[in-house]
Amino acid sequence: MRPESLFPLYAAISTLKGVGPRVAPLVEKLAGPIVRDVLFSLPQALIRRTPTTAALAQDGQVATFVVTIDAHLPPQRSGQPWRIRGWDDTGFVTLVWFKGHGPHLERQHPVGARRAVSGKVERFGSEIQVAHPDYMLEAERVDEIPPVEPVYPATAGLPSRTFRKFAQEALSRALPLPEWQDPAWLEREGLPPWREAFELAHGPEGEADLSPLSLARRRLAYDELLAHQLALAQRKAGKRAQPGPRIVSGALAEAAEKALPFRLTGAQVRALSEVRGDLAHGERMSRLLQGDVGSGKTVVAMLAMADAAGAGFQSALMAPTEILARQHYETLAPSLEAQGLAVVLLTGRDKGSARAAKLQKLADGSAAVAVGTHALFQDDVAFKALSLTIIDEQHRFGVNERRRLQDKGEGVHLLAMSATPIPRTLELTVFGDLDVSRIDEKPPGRTPVATRAAPLPRVPEIVDRLRSAIDGGAQAFWICPLVSESEKVDLRAAEDRAADLKKILGSRVGLVHGQMPAAEKDAVMQAFVDGEVGVLVATTVVEVGVNVPNASIMVIEHADRFGLAQLHQLRGRVGRGMRESSCVLLYDPPLSEVAQQRLDILRRSDDGFEIAEKDLELRGGGDPLGLKQSGFPAYRLADPVAHRDLIAVAADDARLILARDPDLTSPRGQAVRTLQALFDWKPASGINDAG
Ligand code: ADP
Ligand code: MG
Repeated sequence: MRPESLFPLYAAISTLKGVGPRVAPLVEKLAGPIVRDVLFSLPQALIRRTPTTAALAQDGQVATFVVTIDAHLPPQRSGQPWRIRGWDDTGFVTLVWFKGHGPHLERQHPVGARRAVSGKVERFGSEIQVAHPDYMLEAERVDEIPPVEPVYPATAGLPSRTFRKFAQEALSRALPLPEWQDPAWLEREGLPPWREAFELAHGPEGEADLSPLSLARRRLAYDELLAHQLALAQRKAGKRAQPGPRIVSGALAEAAEKALPFRLTGAQVRALSEVRGDLAHGERMSRLLQGDVGSGKTVVAMLAMADAAGAGFQSALMAPTEILARQHYETLAPSLEAQGLAVVLLTGRDKGSARAAKLQKLADGSAAVAVGTHALFQDDVAFKALSLTIIDEQHRFGVNERRRLQDKGEGVHLLAMSATPIPRTLELTVFGDLDVSRIDEKPPGRTPVATRAAPLPRVPEIVDRLRSAIDGGAQAFWICPLVSESEKVDLRAAEDRAADLKKILGSRVGLVHGQMPAAEKDAVMQAFVDGEVGVLVATTVVEVGVNVPNASIMVIEHADRFGLAQLHQLRGRVGRGMRESSCVLLYDPPLSEVAQQRLDILRRSDDGFEIAEKDLELRGGGDPLGLKQSGFPAYRLADPVAHRDLIAVAADDARLILARDPDLTSPRGQAVRTLQALFDWKPASGINDAG
């Protein structure tokens, strides 16, 4: 239930003065459908209006004059503007209207009247012009022209100054609310009450007030972060409260582990014991296994599946593509079958009686493990005793898809796997409702990938070397990212590149892109996995997890426009086999200093988490890691980078609030409910909605 104090903010934007049927859609596009959304749209810049005179005015300046109207100069020909000439003690100022009703202007501003005029100055030689002044008032009212004016997001048909009026009105609708933050903490940090914080944020007096570090904006950011962390904590608690089958690790998994051709790394052992702790606990597991590409997540998953099988349960591992599913099957099946377990691979390719036979094995429980794609959660797939689902590259699945698989059993445990390196500082925001295990150590024996940057003009040289490597049996990825606004243009770039390479390398060049049908894409990928294709040109991220040990060369075009984390992931697809591996980051010269530094980080480090953290520091704001695409929440007041020091505080605070007052009935609890209602937090789907 929404508290009454919020009703004015939950009113439709059309209740704001001046927001009629024409303007409403524009406001909605810029802000959102309700008054709160307008309140939450903070100014991004400032205009300063400098009081000036005709003699002193400078081109490009936004300035305020006080002039006496000297003459109206109607257009001589159509297409010409209406002009008003005004003067002050130092010279003339011409005011110009391209649109506007001359006679009306004449009535409003008769010759001899004194007017305060403000707008952008254009100087043509000695002539000063102001086109379509922002303000034109009686001279006595000059003080009403704000010396500093916040700039709001604008769109065609809705200028910033109009939006500002709406924002001011939205502000006036906001009632003071009971304080939900800890007063002692607010005082220590010097943060204002929320109503005042909005006033300050909407009335900046200088650039410092626009900074995310200003106290007002920090206050508002903290409110949003706390609301989000509360929602995550409640969801996590809700999931925890559901019972899950108790699975205790036994002899079967032990034997499977012993039979591995390698020993688990320390990080794998740690992750596995965290998973086992959850499985044995009697509550549903919701755990994310995070680890760089190649860090060895699959074997951890495999041993958890062995645990489940040992306890008489089934498990299912779902991957986003057929190739990945098949690769998982090929690695898991031998180990599990050696322990007497039956493993079924189920993909879209399975049809007819073969498929029916597989479904039968899952339904009657004779297969302990299913590996597959989206085919796994189809309605006619049933399990006898599904207790564990493992989702690889989990952000590639929708919430409903994951849920449909989980719903095929009772209290099914979830283990999600992701190779997107999220810096530790942001982990709480992205995965606040999951428990997280990290594999932060690579299996031994990997040779680091020699990484270098090269300008585009060196492509012929690179292709030369590529040819001799391919002749020697090596394989390469050549990535042409999406860089323009138009997918068509990008696709052409990739096609052109593939055609160029074909001229030199012949039929050993394959092309995959996002617009190909999945089956066709899979076929090309498979040809690459099988070694028939030597160079795979790809428009975007191909399959992050795909394992082609023989691929040892990664060329990435427009590397300077990629997020570092993404570059790192791409690079992670080579360096898996015996061959010396290399990664070439192509850029369009010249390289900016920041771009240079970013590429340097990649050259120096091979640790995804470290890279992500450094990238964050270097970029310092916005959406540094392309996180929005991976389901990162779209904050409106908080900047996950600039305010990252507040994230952990908010998470702690949320835990504490709920520990003391789980039902939020105390006075502070009530205030916290108002906070939650204010943000009405509906999490973006995606990563932070696993399970
Ligand atoms: P991820 O899914 O995390 O990208 P994988 O699970 O596919 O990584 O593992 C990558 C490769 O490393 C696989 O070939 C796997 O057999 C191997 N591997 C995993 N763990 C170890 C280990 N502890 N020692 C040696 N090799 C390992
Ligand atoms: Mg993997």
